[in-house]
Amino acid sequence: MKCPSCEKEMENGFVQTGQRISWVKKKHKVSLIPQEGEVLLGNNVFSGLAFEAYICKSCKKIVLDYDGADYHEG
Ligand SMILES: [Zn+2]
Repeated sequence: MKCPSCEKEMENGFVQTGQRISWVKKKHKVSLIPQEGEVLLGNNVFSGLAFEAYICKSCKKIVLDYDGADYHEG
């Protein structure tokens, strides 16, 4: 996937939720305890969610596929 801003090839990974939301190269174990004030992106945030996502680190853009929410067990 190409970055919509600079058109360089974007890096494939995941936007993963747990205590925090972050882009990660590989899904990894996160804490099962959610923090107050987190944005709800799915119905199972207590267990965490991971969305397949592409990142451009120079433009700080992320394109994520929210259709592919993957419920994981940590
Ligand atoms: Zn870019």
